[in-house]
Amino acid sequence: MRPIVIAANWKMNTTPADAGELARTIAGRTRVPGVTRVICPPFVCLAAVREALAGEDVAVGAQNVHHELAGAYTGEISAPMLDGLATWVIVGHSERRRDAGETDALIAAKLGRALAAGLRPILCVGELLEVRDRGAAAAEALVAGQLRGALEPNAGDALAGGTLVIAYEPVWAIGTGRNASGRDAAAMSEAIRGVLSGIAGLGSGQDTPILYGGSVTAANIGEFLTEPAIDGALVGGASLKPDEMAGIVGRAGVTAAARLATTA
Ligand code: PEP
Repeated sequence: MRPIVIAANWKMNTTPADAGELARTIAGRTRVPGVTRVICPPFVCLAAVREALAGEDVAVGAQNVHHELAGAYTGEISAPMLDGLATWVIVGHSERRRDAGETDALIAAKLGRALAAGLRPILCVGELLEVRDRGAAAAEALVAGQLRGALEPNAGDALAGGTLVIAYEPVWAIGTGRNASGRDAAAMSEAIRGVLSGIAGLGSGQDTPILYGGSVTAANIGEFLTEPAIDGALVGGASLKPDEMAGIVGRAGVTAAARLATTA
């Protein structure tokens, strides 16, 4: 049975002075059985959030990681530096593809470093609006290329640990208030599993959680979690609001309980 995961991407929001309090508030309002919770604050807030979450069953994730271990890379953070601060990491977010020019090859290298360091990666994939407008097949082909580009260089033992999580995030839905439909996101999740099944180390792809991301709120999360192919959400804007997170994780708990009941 795949876990239900709700991961918060705080992006470039919060400071070391206020991040701990926000994390503590969210943790306290989202104690729902069966839901894996992850909070990904900015690098400079990792320590404060980790400290604030001591004793809580909430994982801490980074939003990025460098593809080298150490060296002359001013302003960068490597996987070994995250030791003791984060256990998850977002890789290949569309905002980094757009703003930092991250390519599939670079994302593959980052993914490799994350896996080697024992970090649990959330690999983000998703199409631009111009591709979606050409139809579902075009979007699936684009996402398949992103997946193969990031995963094939890591195929085999690196991926066999079973820690990989995929986030399908249509770029046109991120931060726009315009979410994909649950049905379209589920169809893409099934297409993604088809690609995963062809990559050594991932088995049939059936064990890999696939999250939806893109303007998720407490009001629309149910549309995604009623789809068996979708295993949770990567939440941006709404993840900074405790009320929203309480609603999102609460709804995720309903799906987690239903999945447990069907396997019992
Ligand atoms: C994200 O940052 O991954 C995201 C999905 O953002 P938002 O929920 O704000 O669209």
